[in-house]
Amino acid sequence: MMNKQEVLSILEQYGLSATKSLGQNFLCNPDVIGRILELAEISDSTRVLEIGPGIGALSEEAVSRAGKYVAVEIDRSFFERLSAIIDSCGGRVIYSDYLQFAPSDLDPSEVPDVIISNLPYYVMTPIILKVLADFPECRKMVYMVEEEAEARIFAKPGTKQYGPLAVLTELFGVKKKEFIVDRNSFVPPPNTTSAVITITRREGLSWKNGWSRFVESAFALRRKTLVNSLSAAGISDKVKVAGALREMGRQETARAEELGPDEFVRLYEILTK
Ligand code: SAM
Repeated sequence: MMNKQEVLSILEQYGLSATKSLGQNFLCNPDVIGRILELAEISDSTRVLEIGPGIGALSEEAVSRAGKYVAVEIDRSFFERLSAIIDSCGGRVIYSDYLQFAPSDLDPSEVPDVIISNLPYYVMTPIILKVLADFPECRKMVYMVEEEAEARIFAKPGTKQYGPLAVLTELFGVKKKEFIVDRNSFVPPPNTTSAVITITRREGLSWKNGWSRFVESAFALRRKTLVNSLSAAGISDKVKVAGALREMGRQETARAEELGPDEFVRLYEILTK
């Protein structure tokens, strides 16, 4: 597993350098790499999707352990390096912005049950939210996130950081803060400390893709009441939202940040039935 020396020599060998605007901070701590792979519980029956493989710190082991391995990487300059380690093990890399990627481009045998990513921090939230919508059957996600984002993922109702990321990840699964990763575990070091988290799909979950737009609309006008934000988004009219809130024992003046994740599901059900 890659240490700092190896990362630097791969970058030199392939004439590569980290592009800051693409959130490229390459993992160079073998202990952290090993722990992420352990959390992913990859066996020869696992179908893995990696978002942003970079120069392959996680990919090299993941592709050799998995039954199926697909990566989505935005930066074509990694092509030569990634081909060398992934193609020979039967995996494949799709060169695409994950945010533009259509899950229907995967063969049914490639639809992942495990997702791993040392996430590019500049698009972390939209990637996590898109994964939930793209792969609601996925069993486990193992993500490296920056500390500030970790706080938003685990935020509780009534706090400033509470929003769609906290609500939707909570509805999807059981979230766990696994361990903290210091800046020196990356080349180049990012500005903040990072953390590895896991999200394990809830037993019996029946994910509804409508939840994403509903929750995002509820928070879109953060300082407005739910009656105003949901009607402005065209989800429902004011009278219905007010009635649904009363039915739930909430005041008509309730704002999105007051509702727990289960209450969003209840409100969605009342308004869409
Ligand atoms: N997995 C590698 C590692 O751990 O060393 C690289 C992680 S680096 C933090 C993030 C990676 O995501 C980079 O390879 C970057 O090019 C890629 N990336 C950035 N934006 C992306 C996007 N929108 N879609 C797919 N990959 C992206």
